[in-house]
Amino acid sequence: MSGTLYIVPTPIGHLDDITLRALKVLRQVACVAAEDTRSAQHLLRHHGIETPTVSYFDGNEAKRSAELIDRLLAGDDWALISEAGTPLISDPGHRLVARAIAEQIRVEVLPGANAALTALVGSGLDVEAFHFFGFLPRPKGDRQFLLGQVAQLSGSLIFYEAPTRTAATLDDLVTVLGAARRACVARELTKIYEEYRRGTLADLARSAHQTPPRGEVTIVVSGASETPAAVVDLETEVKRRLAAGERPNQIAAALAIIAGVPRRQIYQLAIALKERPRSIP
Ligand code: SAM
Repeated sequence: MSGTLYIVPTPIGHLDDITLRALKVLRQVACVAAEDTRSAQHLLRHHGIETPTVSYFDGNEAKRSAELIDRLLAGDDWALISEAGTPLISDPGHRLVARAIAEQIRVEVLPGANAALTALVGSGLDVEAFHFFGFLPRPKGDRQFLLGQVAQLSGSLIFYEAPTRTAATLDDLVTVLGAARRACVARELTKIYEEYRRGTLADLARSAHQTPPRGEVTIVVSGASETPAAVVDLETEVKRRLAAGERPNQIAAALAIIAGVPRRQIYQLAIALKERPRSIP
């Protein structure tokens, strides 16, 4: 009879944000596989738990998964935790869960802390439908391409981001999704310096350049349904973006991706629309 693999969420900040059941499981299992054994031991000690830990991170995931599967098949119960929040969500563990399922090992997932859902709920934006992307690709071109692909989605968009890259990512969001979209930068959730900055993407980009956020950051952006006529009427959309303070080259870059219209054509339209009011006597 094989053992059970428990997937156990841990706090994203406040050490008390862990369920009674999670503590019980962490106390009872033979061993805890942890992304970061130091922070795991800190958490376990805080709750008076003495279960041994072994490391399980991106670098040793393949080798460690094989070892863990053997132990599970031999009948041991194991828990997997990540450094913070729910394992597998922008964290290692998928390989282990997939292998356990293939070996018909019982997998029990405990519900618990997660930064994306906490940020979404606190953002004040649409929660009926939402899309989670984890971290955006690093190269600017890849990032803008992905944003162009998701620009028309109607639910809220959720991204994880490093604090040092938040301002640049907000600039990209302004470029591709437009300055006027409502958004929220949720920082240090459940910790002492917890903060929700809410506003338009343009406001938040400005604020991130003026006062770069520190600590852990999750960005939530409203969906396209809140932004009228994104590509249906190009002229209306260009006017709307000009009125929101976007520059013609920013508008051209963004709409070329979203609408599939040559950048130069949109740039010329934006220049013409920008100058038109001045030409009226
Ligand atoms: N597995 C985790 C979860 O369930 O949320 C996410 C792990 S991912 C490697 C770490 C990223 O989550 C951070 O870079 C940040 O974007 C976000 N994050 C984690 N803790 C956070 C917090 N307390 N406040 C805001 N964002 C947080």
